[in-house]
Amino acid sequence: MSTVDARPRPYGSYVYAYPHKTAYRPLDDRPALAELWAGEPKDALSLYAHIPFCEVRCGFCNLFTRIGAPDELTGRYLDALDRQATAVRDALGDAAPVRFATAAFGGGTPTFLTAAELERLCDIAEKRMGADLRAVPLSVETSPATATADRLAVLAERGATRLSIGVQSFVEAEARAAVRPQRRADVEAALGRIRDTGVPVLNIDLIYGIDGQTEESWRLSLDAALAWRPEELYLYPLYVRPLTGLGRIQDPAAADREWDERRLRLYRHGRDHLLARGYEQVSMRMFRAADAGPAGPDDYACQTDGMIGLGCGARSYTSALHYSFDYAVDMREIRSIIDVYTGTEDFSRAGVGRWVDGDEARRRHLLQSLLQAAGMPLAGYAERFGSSPFEDFGAELARFERLGWLDTEAPEGLLRLSPEGLAYSDGLGPALFSPAVRAAMAAYEPK
Ligand code: SF4
Repeated sequence: MSTVDARPRPYGSYVYAYPHKTAYRPLDDRPALAELWAGEPKDALSLYAHIPFCEVRCGFCNLFTRIGAPDELTGRYLDALDRQATAVRDALGDAAPVRFATAAFGGGTPTFLTAAELERLCDIAEKRMGADLRAVPLSVETSPATATADRLAVLAERGATRLSIGVQSFVEAEARAAVRPQRRADVEAALGRIRDTGVPVLNIDLIYGIDGQTEESWRLSLDAALAWRPEELYLYPLYVRPLTGLGRIQDPAAADREWDERRLRLYRHGRDHLLARGYEQVSMRMFRAADAGPAGPDDYACQTDGMIGLGCGARSYTSALHYSFDYAVDMREIRSIIDVYTGTEDFSRAGVGRWVDGDEARRRHLLQSLLQAAGMPLAGYAERFGSSPFEDFGAELARFERLGWLDTEAPEGLLRLSPEGLAYSDGLGPALFSPAVRAAMAAYEPK
């Protein structure tokens, strides 16, 4: 047997949460939230509210969201969110202090809601859940068309510290090709309105790998974003293979290789461009301006559990259970899950999820820290688990080392990826999934 590993493909999947929701299953005993949370630390929880509405469906998007909200659906959704928040807060109890350390509204597009609805969303977070939005980092996602002055004013006034806008490309033809039609002037105007709010952190999302995108056009988008001096930039690889261009290559494997190479080239180009302009790399996708101040809650290797998710696509985590509602990718199924959610009266139990045992907790810790450019302090791992990742995941780490993915120059006591390892984050991450999670994901039938 050869000791040389074949180099895996660089774009397996984006590991932003482990285990993935496709590994969740209906929980037969539907445990009561009050029992699940009884013994958990609750003094530094994260709050996440999921708003599953968008004005359009972007070509590359696989998030849990629907287009539009007929028949006052947003109002009914907020009613359900209010009921869920009340039930969850009851379940957290008052025996121990309950405090939220971070908050985020994501989606979908939270700013699909009107200004008045955003006020209501903030009220739910504050009055029902008890989150002090003006005292903690609050991150909100928005889009060029929905980042209107009235909505942004509400968010700024209620304490948003970070506004994240999905621009994807400043080149109109690229936006049309793979993303969503948008005029550059509208994007620039939205960015101006965001900067006018004075919210301290602006994040801009961009995508590479779009059909017709070249290094020059990619640089044009990067420079257009940089002109706003965003505190943060996320560079996402496109995951839906363009049909044209690569379609001329007959052999699908060769077309995949060619597309992987193209994305890797654009990734390196983007990374080097940002590093040369005063940005630090936080993870494969995330870059932060060196002078931007302390990090926000996003893409942070949050090793502690304690996540309260509100809304039909949000996950919640205790130390033992990750849970959510039903999951789907198909538009019709998503619409029906939203309808079930808005009709739900009793939110006191967890219906769908996955129990996380000691082995999974180790994997999660390793995954989430190793995929950060700063790496993982071995002492923190040892303190939490009483072992070393080299004992627990020796074979995987030895393989990563053979592939040149580990930084052999990292300071003593730090396990860190090499630049090549970071570039291969989406191939490396899935290699750390447990056999059980992998099997559950493989057995998941998309709906
Ligand atoms: S705006 Fe965001 S969530 Fe909505 S479809 Fe586009 S990428 Fe997906």
